Amino acid sequence: MMLISGCLLGINCKYNGGNNLKPELLELLKKGRVIPICPEQLGGAPTPRVPCEIMGGNGFDVLKGKAKVINKVGEDLTSVFLKGAEEVLKIALDANISQAILKERSPSCGVLEIYDGNFSGNTINGIGVTAAILRQNGIKISSEEN
Ligand code: SF4
Repeated sequence: MMLISGCLLGINCKYNGGNNLKPELLELLKKGRVIPICPEQLGGAPTPRVPCEIMGGNGFDVLKGKAKVINKVGEDLTSVFLKGAEEVLKIALDANISQAILKERSPSCGVLEIYDGNFSGNTINGIGVTAAILRQNGIKISSEEN
């Protein structure tokens, strides 16, 4: 059993109300080997929602209280992203999950890259908040791109 970002499974949980379906991952869901998660929805954010980026660091920095998650209109959503990450971790621990496949470049789910915090479309090396909490707890994470 593994966790997979819900948007990769065709669930319309993306900020714009759409998804990022990867048909090969949907096959795993059909075989009953997957728990879909969307940390931003689990944290209480609505869908659709204003897009967010991590400002001043990466997901590990957000967990340490050293960086924030800000949306495009300047609101601080850090507490929503932290709650979502904790909810996903709880699912992982309760279900004894050791692996997750997460959507690259998301401020929650990004594994190797995130956006730079300026809403410029530029990416930097970095990890999202949920990806960071999972890695911190020994869960193997990869993205849909690797
Ligand atoms: S938080 Fe993760 S699962 Fe939810 S829409 Fe964003 S990338 Fe997909």
